[in-house]
Amino acid sequence: MTQPCVLVTGSTHGIGYGIAEAFARQGARLVINSHLPDNGALAKLSALTECHFIQSDLSTTAGAVSLVEQAHARLGRLDTLVNNAGTFLDTPFDDLTEALFDRTFNLNVKAYVFASQAFVRLLAPGQEGASIVLVGSTNSVTAERHSVAYDASKGAVLMLVRSLAVSLAGRGVRVNGLGPGIVETPLTQRGLDVPGVRASLNKQIPFGRVGQPEDVGGAAVFLASPAAGYITGQMLFVDGGILAIQKTWEPPV
Ligand code: NAD
Repeated sequence: MTQPCVLVTGSTHGIGYGIAEAFARQGARLVINSHLPDNGALAKLSALTECHFIQSDLSTTAGAVSLVEQAHARLGRLDTLVNNAGTFLDTPFDDLTEALFDRTFNLNVKAYVFASQAFVRLLAPGQEGASIVLVGSTNSVTAERHSVAYDASKGAVLMLVRSLAVSLAGRGVRVNGLGPGIVETPLTQRGLDVPGVRASLNKQIPFGRVGQPEDVGGAAVFLASPAAGYITGQMLFVDGGILAIQKTWEPPV
């Protein structure tokens, strides 16, 4: 079997790196990306597989489309696109500005749409097994205080998964979502380092700990694999049980 060719956006650290590493361990040929320099990720992943780094800012549609086109040119084809680059910029709701809202949606939603469109346009006639994975969040279905732009963007990702799945099913392209819970990355590090926060989260998460990027990668590999060949339009939450737990009479364990 030929090695799958995979592009993971926003993959020099955090969840995107965890996803890229999981694909690398399966022998996929990879393109990783950031708007910033690669920060050593390219060397680490190149020790595992063929890997390329393309610097492109996905906060513009041109940047998202150009990344997909360059990745396709480097690898000769693309089988899987993982739309992962995303961010959290919220402030207390009264202070939310249109600029912050637009920045959130441009990266978390608009880039996913137009990178996916570029990916589909580059598929070869009759190419089989293509799939798109969109990284949403537990915030795709549950809200946090003062997280209005982020929550709305991740809710949009859930509908994007379903809408793209329906639109692309006839062409044999599967589209699924991956919903991390709370994962320790540069994005969440400052919050996790606030005294008491990690211990409080650990008590609320059924698995008793926040996730690590390597907890998430396997789900993306599965969703892109032939083992998931009849799965489309689904969101797989990788959250240590966060969404499963009911409010309880018992004291936290
Ligand atoms: P992170 O900030 O730690 O890493 C983001 C990656 O995207 C980095 O490689 C960064 O360089 C890149 N990136 C940022 N802005 C970019 C841009 N404009 N263009 C191109 N690349 C850019 O974030 P993370 O925590 O790893 O989150 C990754 C994804 O997972 C996001 O979509 C986020 O919403 C989602 N998520 C994170 C958590 C969590 O707890 N960390 C939970 C649920 C969902």
